[in-house]
Amino acid sequence: MFSDLRNLEKQLWKAAETIAEGWKDLKLPRLERDIPGEERTEAVQGERVGYQAFKALLALNSIRKSLPRETPESIELGPLHFYLSKLWEHSKGHGVEFGRGGVLNVLDNKLELSASHPGTEGSCEIVTFVPQDGFHHYVLMMHTHPTDRGGNPRLHFSDNDFKGFFRYPEMLATYVISTDEIAMVLKTASSPTKTDYVNRRIDEMLEERLSRNGTYDARTWDFTRIVALEFGCSLYRNSRAEPKVLKKVSVTGVTD
Ligand SMILES: [Zn+2]
Repeated sequence: MFSDLRNLEKQLWKAAETIAEGWKDLKLPRLERDIPGEERTEAVQGERVGYQAFKALLALNSIRKSLPRETPESIELGPLHFYLSKLWEHSKGHGVEFGRGGVLNVLDNKLELSASHPGTEGSCEIVTFVPQDGFHHYVLMMHTHPTDRGGNPRLHFSDNDFKGFFRYPEMLATYVISTDEIAMVLKTASSPTKTDYVNRRIDEMLEERLSRNGTYDARTWDFTRIVALEFGCSLYRNSRAEPKVLKKVSVTGVTD
């Protein structure tokens, strides 16, 4: 399926350019920080999806409102690795979470990041301005998790992280970084779209475990897998060997 992405990407930007022809004189509002442009063409090798192809996937979701039925086995972070690391560097000295939103401008094929925003030790509000011109789509968010008291990375998506992610129907991906560890959740065509349902199910899943165990820590990798499985999401992580590549990891087999 992903061997077609390169072609699809070309068609997509051709269509966008045609639209742009008619809007030449329109002054589009700009966000303050752009990810510098990369080469447009990038080979899609096997099941690994390059950064540009990944952006095409984000664009397809924004334009056609259709979440992917299949997700790639691995995805190159491309320039996002730099911005995630920078956000971590920024955050680590402060001991609180920091977050940024990613807005895709489908006219220019540009992913733009909002300014980084500080939160507390356990949560952060991501404030992202999205121009309502039909071309800008709020497609991703990223935030940091400060390490635990022992200095270990806290890699997971909490109940609130999931709720925040599902609050935006156009959003396809969410990232968390803790030290050099990065994880990502991708929605798929089997993911729910109703916010109320998502919030209720997350609360129910937590309640179930709380009543069974007396206590339950939702801020764990296991709970991340439970929620990802429930909502048909794909879960990815990078590795020490390949820090700039996210590989799909299993969401099944959690027994608690
Ligand atoms: Zn979080």
